[in-house]
Amino acid sequence: MKGQRVVVLGGAGFLGSHLCERLLDDGAARVVSVDNLLTGAERNVAHLLGRAGFESVRQDITEGLSVEGPLDYVFNLASPASPIDYAKLPLETMRVGSVGTENGLKLAEAKGAVFLQASTSEIYGDPLVHPQREDYWGNVNSIGPRACYDEAKRYGEALTMVYARTRGVKTRIIRIFNTYGPRMRLNDGRVVPAFVGQALRGEDFTVFGDGSQTRSFCYVKDLIDGMVRLALSDVTEPVNIGNPREMTVREFAEAVRAAAGGGGKIVCQPLPKDDPKQRQPDITRAREWLGWEPRVSLEEGLRETISWFRTVAGQGAGS
Ligand code: NAD
Ligand code: UDP
Repeated sequence: MKGQRVVVLGGAGFLGSHLCERLLDDGAARVVSVDNLLTGAERNVAHLLGRAGFESVRQDITEGLSVEGPLDYVFNLASPASPIDYAKLPLETMRVGSVGTENGLKLAEAKGAVFLQASTSEIYGDPLVHPQREDYWGNVNSIGPRACYDEAKRYGEALTMVYARTRGVKTRIIRIFNTYGPRMRLNDGRVVPAFVGQALRGEDFTVFGDGSQTRSFCYVKDLIDGMVRLALSDVTEPVNIGNPREMTVREFAEAVRAAAGGGGKIVCQPLPKDDPKQRQPDITRAREWLGWEPRVSLEEGLRETISWFRTVAGQGAGS
């Protein structure tokens, strides 16, 4: 990414802020974060503000998107991503996934830039094929409570491919599986901050359902590395990026307890509707096409994440 000029839509979010940092570390000439702070926060990029080439712009990308000057890459990470966020913001989620994504594509087209769309394992819905390969078309309830996110992301992939096929835009699609790390919001409702917060406060772990559903957790540093490799490749097909180590939510609670050295008992709460029963990426494409695989173990990633949450909790931030 040395010398490249990059826009990161959703740059003040969890993943976006790590991406901006990585791009600057790689020597990018210009990194512009565009974010309306719907689910992100200025504090996520505050440490980057003094760095040469970094700009933070507050803008809703559904209301138009213009960036002065030449650009080489547009990364589109703008969208609420946690199930409780998109349940609270269903229209915003659908608009940013549709209108916002098209504005990002138009910007890339106008600048002759590569466009990378942050898609998701949610496009596989509650998968009937396991592990999930990119050629699986998914099992999504188009009218359920998660549909505002899942269908917006499916539309985003379709739109990205239309711009690639009919407008000649160079596009990439990354299908991101559950990712965790520093700068997640303690109260964003996702299982990692939920369990880490509970462990640090000595509270019970709120396991939804019987906890037998599975997820595969990728540390943010690995995820961003996969994203950058994909952007630099010439791969137009979607690529799964995630950690194939799969575990039940119950096992995950025990892993957090061990890493944090605390937490109460497991208490079961109702399983949200349409909660996928299993999820594990097949990362053959990432391995073969990008030379990528995750390097950070769950134990190491949890240590880093917990230590970050301890610090921000002490400062009263992270919520
Ligand atoms: P996040 O909520 O922390 O970041 C999303 C950012 O987008 C926020 O800063 C938010 O303010 C911004 N945004 C939302 N609507 C916007 C709009 N209209 N205009 C400008 N900015 C807007 O979420 P995240 O976990 O960092 O996820 C980033 C992307 O990666 C999302 O597109 C998400 O769907 C995708 N993804 C994330 C995960 C994960 O595990 N974190 C998994 C799959 C996919
Ligand atoms: N979950 C849980 N307790 C919580 C939060 C989530 O048991 O406090 C479960 C949730 O039902 C799902 C898994 O953990 O099965 C992962 O949820 P998350 O919201 O992190 O992401 P998802 O993969 O569902 O998008």
